[in-house]
Amino acid sequence: MLNKLFGKISHNIGIDLGTANTLVYVKEKGIVINEPSVVAVNKRTGQILAIGKEAKEMVGKTPGHIIVSRPLVGGVVSDFETTEQILSYFIEKVHKDSFALLPRPRVAIGIPSGVTEVEKRAVIDAAISAGAREAFLIDEPMAAAIGARLPVQEPAGNMIVDIGGGTTEVAIISLGGVVTSRSLRVAGDKMNEDVIHFARDKYNLLLGERTAENIKIAIGSAYKMNDRLEMIIRGIDLISGLPKEMEVNDDQIREALFRSIKVIVNNIKSAVEETPPELVSDIMQKGIILAGGGGLIRGLDKLIAEQTEMPVRRMEDPLTAVVRGIGAVLENLDELSDVLIESGEDKKLR
Ligand code: ADP
Ligand code: MG
Repeated sequence: MLNKLFGKISHNIGIDLGTANTLVYVKEKGIVINEPSVVAVNKRTGQILAIGKEAKEMVGKTPGHIIVSRPLVGGVVSDFETTEQILSYFIEKVHKDSFALLPRPRVAIGIPSGVTEVEKRAVIDAAISAGAREAFLIDEPMAAAIGARLPVQEPAGNMIVDIGGGTTEVAIISLGGVVTSRSLRVAGDKMNEDVIHFARDKYNLLLGERTAENIKIAIGSAYKMNDRLEMIIRGIDLISGLPKEMEVNDDQIREALFRSIKVIVNNIKSAVEETPPELVSDIMQKGIILAGGGGLIRGLDKLIAEQTEMPVRRMEDPLTAVVRGIGAVLENLDELSDVLIESGEDKKLR
């Protein structure tokens, strides 16, 4: 009885600590936070001035002593202290809004499948010192697969390609575990850089990072489309130093993005080649599942299908796939707690 009561009032939260966006899921409530993984720091004092949306708004607009950075880009724990502060900020925010009178939360965090034991330990430690009572980890591709409602615990192959901001995760999942995976540092951010290089090299036009991202989202594609897309872009002329605007079309941006897209597609191809034949035939039937914001590039599904000779399915709402998967684990612990791969203190999350 008492146990049951505790089970009800204790709260569990899931966090997708992405290189571009951090999302938080609260059991029985759903997604309560969806903000950029961005931090603004005063370089002189080391003090954090803003986190999330507020910090992203400062990008490119700060005085010299304030730096706005995305501390997770180089991997989850490239910067332990900041990671802890981000976790702390979001855990506090959820705790204050919803559960001020309850004990500290248990937290499940998605991590890229490639991280080392040392890095895993560091994430758990960061979560505990950020105020979690206990911390558990889950492989991001596994979470994305659960978010896509794939039958991850069956003895059948599921292939997930999650293209985020800083990293692309390619994983094959069967029987509740990751069979093979690879993690590349080529994803949405590199595509933004492709657009910047293109404008600089071809037109001597200097573009800001956010402008480049907007261009990518507005007219970027991976495969020739029927409809032509065009837009006016604005930047600084590198020769005169003055503002300049020009028109670009989808063909030009596709050519620019191909630099990164080629790497992603080649890695998917070789992951397929390394997969045991039994699993390949499962994937043939179910298709490769595309998740993450970078997977939204127009025609990428078509290009991957052509190159791998496999069907490709874009999952619904790919930007929230991982956190919805973590949420599904929290809601169905009886069935799914096996996919949690590590624990802070004990192994039971109830
Ligand atoms: P992460 O998991 O690393 O935080 P996300 O899955 O949140 O990353 O994806 C962020 C990336 O998705 C960014 O590089 C962003 O530019 C890109 N993105 C978002 N929407 C689109 C879109 N419609 N088309 C292309 N790229 C997109
Ligand atoms: Mg992600």
